[in-house]
Amino acid sequence: MDNTVKLLTERKCAVDGPDHRISPSTVSPFENAIAKSRDRSSPEIFIPAIGTTFNSCQEAYGFYNLYSWEHGFGVRHSKTRKNQFGYRNMHEIVCQCEGRSLTKSSASCRSGCHAMIRLLRTDDHGWYISMFHSEHNHPLSVGCCGKMQWNSHNEIDPLALDFIKKLGENNISLGKLYNIIKSMKDDIGKTMEILNAMKQNDNETEIMVDVDSDNRMKAILWCKGKNREDYSYFGDVVTFDTTYRTNMYNMPFGLYVGVNEHFQSTIFGGVLMCEETAAAFEWAFESFIKIMGGKHPITILTGQPMQGHESSYKKTMPDTKHRWCRWHVLRDAKEKLGNVYSKHSCFKSEFHGIINEEVCVLNFEKRWEELLVKYDVVDNSYLQLLYKKRRMRARPYFMGVFCAGMTSTQRSESANHVLKHFITRSSPMHLFVRQYNNLLKSRRAEEAREEHSTSLRCRVLKHGMPIETDAAVYKIFTQELFMSASFVAKELENSSSFEVRSAGSLLDVSVDSTTHKVDRLTDGSMVKCSCGWFEHSGLICRHALKVLVRCDVQKIPPGNIMRRWTTRAREAKNNTPSVTEEGETSEKNSYRHNLLCMAMYDLSQDASLSEEGFELVMTAISTARKNLSDLNRDRPA
Ligand SMILES: [Zn+2]
Ligand SMILES: [Zn+2]
Repeated sequence: MDNTVKLLTERKCAVDGPDHRISPSTVSPFENAIAKSRDRSSPEIFIPAIGTTFNSCQEAYGFYNLYSWEHGFGVRHSKTRKNQFGYRNMHEIVCQCEGRSLTKSSASCRSGCHAMIRLLRTDDHGWYISMFHSEHNHPLSVGCCGKMQWNSHNEIDPLALDFIKKLGENNISLGKLYNIIKSMKDDIGKTMEILNAMKQNDNETEIMVDVDSDNRMKAILWCKGKNREDYSYFGDVVTFDTTYRTNMYNMPFGLYVGVNEHFQSTIFGGVLMCEETAAAFEWAFESFIKIMGGKHPITILTGQPMQGHESSYKKTMPDTKHRWCRWHVLRDAKEKLGNVYSKHSCFKSEFHGIINEEVCVLNFEKRWEELLVKYDVVDNSYLQLLYKKRRMRARPYFMGVFCAGMTSTQRSESANHVLKHFITRSSPMHLFVRQYNNLLKSRRAEEAREEHSTSLRCRVLKHGMPIETDAAVYKIFTQELFMSASFVAKELENSSSFEVRSAGSLLDVSVDSTTHKVDRLTDGSMVKCSCGWFEHSGLICRHALKVLVRCDVQKIPPGNIMRRWTTRAREAKNNTPSVTEEGETSEKNSYRHNLLCMAMYDLSQDASLSEEGFELVMTAISTARKNLSDLNRDRPA
């Protein structure tokens, strides 16, 4: 027993009298704590040290409650004891997890926690702390929003609040507490107002709110009509990312993102969450699927989930394949492997190379092992985990899993990246929601721009075949076609199968010599390649293109065209693309029309430069007009 305690236990106590002391001259423990806050050695300001005296139990409760806020638990009044005169001389305030639930209901937080303070009387009718247990037997809450979940923090004493206010800039966490208590109720109200206004402007907007048994908000999820429409076309692959945090309450904000026919990120919805528990994730997905009319994605990509969270995806979407986003993995790696990165300058590029480029399982295993040995990191536990979970995120194991190109290196957009340009992190919830809507608007504008330029783009490829007149992802397609030129195709005996490998590998042994087998279905409806890229992205691979070009095929086989990547992606789903005579004609018509427009545009640019040029082209046009009308008149109807 240290001296202070000994001293305290020997001190005289009041045995009878008023319930609290009146001593305006003493400095309150709040003021003391604040005054000492700059030089303190602990993260907390309000530490219930043994011997701290208070004017009343209520004041002690307020003090301990502030400590509990800083620490991440809740408090409540507990046992009291009276002396023979019926005068209260002992009072305990305990952690809300103290004791055991009698009803055995799973909702109870009681875990038999022993954290508490015991107050005894001073001789002048005040109270002092005679016992302080600081250990908890349960996890503490982190972040303001999590802390708000404890009942005791909803009603922070007005007196204590006043002290916190004085803290101002000195302590951000407590300053925030003041703001939050003052504004959170207000903020939730305003947020709901904005969301309801959204619903009024757009009937198709859906909002879902999760509340606990005390009617406190736990999560809000909302999707606009446009989001839901996009999901119906492009909801085959969804990434879900909760790495963005709104600063005011440190609430995780989850964003559901997909990819549209132009290979742009498209947002399906957003969810503000109080906590990242398995139950919270489950709610976020269940509600999302419900809002989307029950349609499950084929694949979902997430950050590396926390332990135990994986099951919440399995539970809500049993048939959906779940994988980890590559950019999350790489970002995590940067954090976890920082020392290896800084020690070996080449490690990063080699490591990224394996993760980003390697598509062959055998090569992956080989390169991984070589990397570990080369940099002496065989024992690194993070790399061991990555290897153990390689099926969740390494590219070769992805190749047969449909990801709509979401894992390709051209797309490194995480929610963080998208959001940080739009939303100041410290905004309150309602401004956050408003800014998020502006983000959606800007996305829409970008989409429209791409749609416009796609409709104008002339689609004749270098070797003159209209091989892909309707691919909206034109750029990626031309890139694959360009790459195909560096491959050689060897025909196998049955003439519909080919072996395709890099031309460079024939001369240089260091070039990847992986051979892919490409099969053409005899009816010409599809080309299949062993590399798995088509199954992964829905886009025809370079190897298959090589074979098509070699066989002088003029059109991409219909089986290799995925509707979601074409300009027809947004046409009503039930309108299955039956290629009728009529359909083909009109497709050809519009193709010719596009070509003519482009040619005419170039022509008029050049012709308008001089008077002579202008005359020349005008004459040519009127001649062409006349000839054309003759031609159309002679054509059989
Ligand atoms: Zn506790
Ligand atoms: Zn291939």
